Amino acid sequence: MAESTFDVVVVGGGPGGYVCAIRAAQLGFKVACVEKRSALGGTCLNVGCIPSKALLAASEKFEEAAHGLAKFGIKIGGVELDLPGMLAHKDKVVKDNTGGIEFLFKKNKVTWLKGAGTITSGTTVEVEGVGAITASKAIVIATGSEVTPLPGIAIDEKKIVSSTGALELPEVPKRLVVIGGGVIGLELGSVWGRLGAKVTVIEYLDRILPTMDGELSKQSQRIFAKQGMTFKLGAKVTGATVSDAGVSLTVEPAAGGAAETVEADVVLVAIGRRAFTQGLGLDKIGVELDNRGRVKIGKHFETNVPGIYAIGDVVEGPMLAHKAEEEGVALAEQLAGQKSHVNHDLVPGVVYTWPEIASVGKTEEELKAAGIAYRTGKFPFTANGRARAGGNTDGFVKILADATTDKVLGVHLLGPNASELIGELVLAMEFSASSEDIARTCHAHPTLSEAVKEAALAVDGRPLHI
Ligand code: FAD
Repeated sequence: MAESTFDVVVVGGGPGGYVCAIRAAQLGFKVACVEKRSALGGTCLNVGCIPSKALLAASEKFEEAAHGLAKFGIKIGGVELDLPGMLAHKDKVVKDNTGGIEFLFKKNKVTWLKGAGTITSGTTVEVEGVGAITASKAIVIATGSEVTPLPGIAIDEKKIVSSTGALELPEVPKRLVVIGGGVIGLELGSVWGRLGAKVTVIEYLDRILPTMDGELSKQSQRIFAKQGMTFKLGAKVTGATVSDAGVSLTVEPAAGGAAETVEADVVLVAIGRRAFTQGLGLDKIGVELDNRGRVKIGKHFETNVPGIYAIGDVVEGPMLAHKAEEEGVALAEQLAGQKSHVNHDLVPGVVYTWPEIASVGKTEEELKAAGIAYRTGKFPFTANGRARAGGNTDGFVKILADATTDKVLGVHLLGPNASELIGELVLAMEFSASSEDIARTCHAHPTLSEAVKEAALAVDGRPLHI
């Protein structure tokens, strides 16, 4: 029988839970993490961020080898896809990463209790196959999220798949229909599109990436269309018929009107994710949920039941691994009496398509709605030497700064390595930088980051290279 009394018991071993467990252990708490999956790392490492990025990276290389090298004076013939090999690469990356968390648990003396946890009181968790565990200081709910189902469309993970099934299709479908023009749909649509599928994205709203800056949505859609994706916006899928030949989808205009049929070999349902609290027993102990099924928390991640806290996808806010991690660290430090907090206004959002899309802070739409006067500085990658050298000139950097104080309020990037470039901007905004601060910072030449500096110069109407 494993030990049964801990200071902190974290339920869920995803980026929120495992990071919280490690930080709490670093701070001297005796910590257990309850995880029912056979590997640590949660959605992110097992069926989310990491496998999707492994496939994005591999499919990018394939596409480049097949079609993208001639312009550099490199001729290669006979490029062939070895899909099992590509999936094996993805599986290895996942295994190495999840194994890494197990190593970190051992290093930090976090006990992994393998099994499903049910919270039975403010201080006890019943772990399947292990027994009753006592948490003298805190129980942390970090149970994450699950795929939001679409009524009338039954996911079988073969012909109608969720993101999990889309990470392991045994062959490249001729026609892939993605329901949902959000991050996950566009990323996984890109993967299979690069490998040869004809991809159609059906989106209920009249734009893709509806929470991002409108200009990013519009420009990225144009680029994805050039890459071969087809978009049906303002359309809803109301039914699906599966046969040996594939899937027939019934699609109607979102505003109402005549239905049409769209045929697919595989359909990916990617309309979003919802908080996962099933089996936790929260109703029995009276932990309150909000109207979207998320665990309700106060300023310090505390639920309405003393001793029980919640972080990550299961609570409000963007469903992102780094947001969950930040919350995990802040909560562990608060439990140790420190004054940590998370700046939820500056959580960057990234779409790992090619080009990449990255955002932090306010969008133009948000600033307009709030009546905040702002100035815009924009710089295209076509005018950046490094982007030209690398043959990746699609996109731009856009900086929005307060019209009076010049404080940077939002940054929106579409372009090569936007996922890495955004880091500088998040840091700048954490330090309440003005666009002038960024404009006066020396950026190495030739780098993509010079486009950031130029966009900052452009806020004041003085870009140098355009
Ligand atoms: P999760 O990672 O969902 O972990 C929760 C864990 O709790 C799970 O392992 C689950 O098994 C366990 N659990 C649940 N209930 C119990 C119970 N009762 N007992 C024991 N264990 C339990 N985010 C990014 O930031 N960047 C990306 O590039 C990105 N890509 C994504 C791609 C895909 C395809 C998907 C699906 C998601 C992606 N995300 C990405 C989102 C990211 O995966 C989540 O935001 C993140 O995993 C949330 O972490 P979490 O710890 O809150 O929950």
